[in-house]
Amino acid sequence: MAASIPHFSLLRNYAATTARAFVTVKVKPSYTISSTTLLHLPSRSRRLQFYASASNNEEAAARAAAANADSGAPTIFDKIIAKEIPSSIVYEDEKVLAFRDIDPQAPVHVLVIPKFRDGLTQLGKAEARHGEILGQLLYAAKIVAEKEGILDGFRVVINNGSDACQSVYHLHLHVLGGRQMKWPPG
Ligand code: AMP
Repeated sequence: MAASIPHFSLLRNYAATTARAFVTVKVKPSYTISSTTLLHLPSRSRRLQFYASASNNEEAAARAAAANADSGAPTIFDKIIAKEIPSSIVYEDEKVLAFRDIDPQAPVHVLVIPKFRDGLTQLGKAEARHGEILGQLLYAAKIVAEKEGILDGFRVVINNGSDACQSVYHLHLHVLGGRQMKWPPG
């Protein structure tokens, strides 16, 4: 295999006490892989390549979103709150709306948002006066976890700013569960 992909260095480490072999493929950062080459790579390498590509897209999208973060412009979530575009609502009360993420990262992936943004484009904009709604959002996350049957294990995530890949500037909590979560997160 090494002969057919000369631009990759293959390190094979054979565990001394077991028959299992571990193969690590180092990819040169600037090297572009053709789809034909990709087909000959081990599946883990393909996953790494797709992951690198996906995360680059997310980072670019996050940087673009951050450029308009403080414009006060409505976001896609305003349309969801106004029911101008459809969403799959899991929980709703006077102050909070929870709906399924359109691009789920776990079997359960629900977004919890304040109906009135009130300057909370991101958690980093929180002021003391936001204490009540922040508590309500967190409590709503627990209600969502209960309704979804994941109370025994779920994760609540807030991406704040472009370094954290925030893409929508209306504060939202991600409630994730239904599978084993890993730590540290990516
Ligand atoms: P973040 O990247 O933390 O700002 O999260 C924004 C989330 O909003 C992403 O997980 C998107 O998949 C999700 N999202 C964007 N548009 C919609 C939509 N129309 N309905 C549901 N979720 C959405």
